[in-house]
Amino acid sequence: MPVDATAPYDDTNIFAQILRGELPCKKVYEDEFALAFHDIAPQAPIHILVIPKGRYVGWDDFAAKAGEAEIVGFVRAVGHVAREQGLPTPGYRLLVNVGQHGHQMVPHLHVHLFGGQQFHHMLV
Ligand code: C5P
Repeated sequence: MPVDATAPYDDTNIFAQILRGELPCKKVYEDEFALAFHDIAPQAPIHILVIPKGRYVGWDDFAAKAGEAEIVGFVRAVGHVAREQGLPTPGYRLLVNVGQHGHQMVPHLHVHLFGGQQFHHMLV
């Protein structure tokens, strides 16, 4: 069942557990603001999730409550991962699912980074 992205942050969610090191992940990048790891069920040859280290359920509370350094740091981390994966050429796709209509399943903000293939449609 998709999450309510306006609900309070739930510290038991699976990405919070990954951030605390309680669950493993296939890490590709980490810095002060972000952690990036391979999606457990990849939907493209490259499918990486980039998550902020702060406690944000969705895009809206991140945009409203995160500090400027956090926002800049997170956006730069996404760009860094894309470059590290060699994706800026030929290109890639970023996706953020938000709340019920967005079919967001994990209540910790995550950016999907898809690459390694030609995408044809706007929706995955
Ligand atoms: O955007 P949405 O919330 O639907 O995406 C959640 C993503 O988290 C899914 O692509 C799922 O495969 C991934 N996931 C993961 N590791 C987990 C649980 C979910 O990579 N332990």
